Amino acid sequence: MKRHRIIIPQVLQGDILAKLHASHQGAEKTKLRAFTSVFWKDINKDIEDMTKSCKVCQELKSNQT
Ligand SMILES: [Zn+2]
Repeated sequence: MKRHRIIIPQVLQGDILAKLHASHQGAEKTKLRAFTSVFWKDINKDIEDMTKSCKVCQELKSNQT
């Protein structure tokens, strides 16, 4: 265990990513949410890949200046 963060097994990582990403806040805010609760190897990369491939995140990002 890494402090209070739960280590998520690979089979559940997709579900957790989807939940973290449900509000489409972009990579940085999604990572912040993850940092407070869950952990797995390459979680940052997975979040970045997911938000990069998400049209909603990209549109929201381009609307924020
Ligand atoms: Zn998104």
